[in-house]
Amino acid sequence: MKCEGCGRRYSYKTVIRSILLNYRPLRCEDCGTKQVFPMRSRFLVAIIIVLPLPVIIATTASAAWLEMAFVYLLFVIPVTLVLPFAMR
Ligand SMILES: [Zn+2]
Repeated sequence: MKCEGCGRRYSYKTVIRSILLNYRPLRCEDCGTKQVFPMRSRFLVAIIIVLPLPVIIATTASAAWLEMAFVYLLFVIPVTLVLPFAMR
């Protein structure tokens, strides 16, 4: 993702912080321009995070919900960490 003001790519830190803080507006470290987190990217995040749920529920059908939650977290945490690389 790039800054609308100066065209500089947002740093990994800027993007991940925005996602973790419920899509707080992105603020460019260079020129200070604030930008709303793009709807398209929010959609992408939602899909990537929700997509594995049915798979996990199906494969851990007999397991306790706690184990299910654990498996899900094991998936979601690394995925969230690489998300900023997936967005342009
Ligand atoms: Zn900028």
